[in-house]
Amino acid sequence: PLLRPVPESEAELAFEGALRPQSLSEFVGQRKVRGQLELLLKAAALQNRTPDHILLAGPPGLGKTTLAMIVAHESGRPLRMSSGPAIQHAGDLAALLSSLTPGEILFIDEIHRMARSAEEMLYLAMEDFRIDIMVGKGAGATSIPLELAPFTLVGATTRSGLLPNPLRDRFGFTAHLEFYDNAELEQVLRRAAQLLELPIDGRALAEIAGRCRGTPRIANRLLRRVRDYALVHGSDAGLTAVHAALELYDVDPLGLDRLDRAVMEILLTRFDGGPVGLNTLAVSVGEESETVESVVEPFLVRIGLITRTPRGRVATREAWQHFGLTPRSQEGL
Ligand code: ADP
Repeated sequence: PLLRPVPESEAELAFEGALRPQSLSEFVGQRKVRGQLELLLKAAALQNRTPDHILLAGPPGLGKTTLAMIVAHESGRPLRMSSGPAIQHAGDLAALLSSLTPGEILFIDEIHRMARSAEEMLYLAMEDFRIDIMVGKGAGATSIPLELAPFTLVGATTRSGLLPNPLRDRFGFTAHLEFYDNAELEQVLRRAAQLLELPIDGRALAEIAGRCRGTPRIANRLLRRVRDYALVHGSDAGLTAVHAALELYDVDPLGLDRLDRAVMEILLTRFDGGPVGLNTLAVSVGEESETVESVVEPFLVRIGLITRTPRGRVATREAWQHFGLTPRSQEGL
């Protein structure tokens, strides 16, 4: 389970914070989503009401938290941040909801990991700005209705499919974030390099952009490693530094990281390219199937190494080529 390096150290988080765009116009790419959010916020402002609840779906590092902060910033409302795993009982949610100030934006990251009992409370809260609090136990238990201040919920999830329908239906707007293309990633990197006051040439930026799994967070982290390398070696932030950083991060020419490669290698060698079920694959690499499904697989599908079939996951011809392997069925032909 330790294959994916997600170093959420304080320094790493502070670094991320410093590079976060503050407004929709600074936010690179996702043009459609930006347009949709802009309309939604403007309409709410004109009618002087809280914006509709918003669900942001997509793999990690594509900008969900950033967008939640931008929603708060652009609508001039305070932001409260929480996460699904922090809400393990309905009581946790009741405490959170009842402490919101009118018009506050409530961000719940990984909302699909919230406790079931809290989910049910959330339905009512989202719809009517009201919750029912249970007091007492057994036959003497009663529920006391509690009015809430109006709020806007911004939920983030790596997979909207994991949310129960009644919850999904209560969001006025769902945005599906897509992986970024190379031109957009170069833009993210150029902006970050400027903020870091790091002179870096175009070839180096293009190289990072092509190898960061379509993900701004990974792009920024690689850029940081490049800066470190240049600093330590007294060199400029050029291709040499980029290659050193990529090596350090175990990034291959397609941008695959160690977990991506582990999944592919097992699919190719142990299961002869599939079809194989996702759970089996996940167990074989020692990861949770949710991680493989929401983090690893979307990118492998997007770059055409894996296809999903009703019988399971199958490696494509490109996958065999990329890993320099021959399907067993073709050996000796
Ligand atoms: P998520 O919540 O989806 O995991 P974040 O919003 O935390 O992702 O984004 C991770 C990092 O990537 C942030 O530090 C942010 O600076 C950067 N980032 C994400 N999306 C963009 C974007 N569209 N433009 C510029 N930077 C971005």
